[in-house]
Amino acid sequence: MKLNIVPLKFSNDPLLRKLIENLSLFFREIEIFYTLIDIEKSYSPERRQYYSTRILESVIKSNPEPDGYILIITELDLFVPVLTHVFGEAQLNGRFSIVSVCRLYEEFYTAESDNKIVVQRSLKEVLHEIGHNFGLLHCKNWECVMHASNNVENIDIKGNTYCDECFGLLKAKNIVF
Ligand SMILES: [Zn+2]
Ligand SMILES: [Zn+2]
Repeated sequence: MKLNIVPLKFSNDPLLRKLIENLSLFFREIEIFYTLIDIEKSYSPERRQYYSTRILESVIKSNPEPDGYILIITELDLFVPVLTHVFGEAQLNGRFSIVSVCRLYEEFYTAESDNKIVVQRSLKEVLHEIGHNFGLLHCKNWECVMHASNNVENIDIKGNTYCDECFGLLKAKNIVF
């Protein structure tokens, strides 16, 4: 399975390298992929955030039939209208997902920065969104990366891979790593 990572307003190269290193356990082929994304239409001046669904739509429009999966990784702060923010969004059973690391940085909340924790949080949220691409729904198991998280405390508590049950569902769908 091939994963294309699309950096969008993303300047943290060491984090990107760490993510690729960790994701290569799941994907045989990972490529950095650049594509034109119109983010102006997704910006809300009132909220000073970007509407994740619109960003996804823009990428889907320019790549309707991608070779493998497409993950947009960004430092932009994302929202959907009913929520104050989202860490990411993905198509269920689709090929496209987006993850924002904006609120995964410890310095978003405290004065301290912690590189290890941002790698762990980012990896969990990427595997979570890609899990939706694979057709997985939210999982009640706290050990599972498919557990829903609306704050970083919840991300830190949950496990960093799929639980046995979710792995079983992936196997049943012939998604094997
Ligand atoms: Zn989810
Ligand atoms: Zn699970």
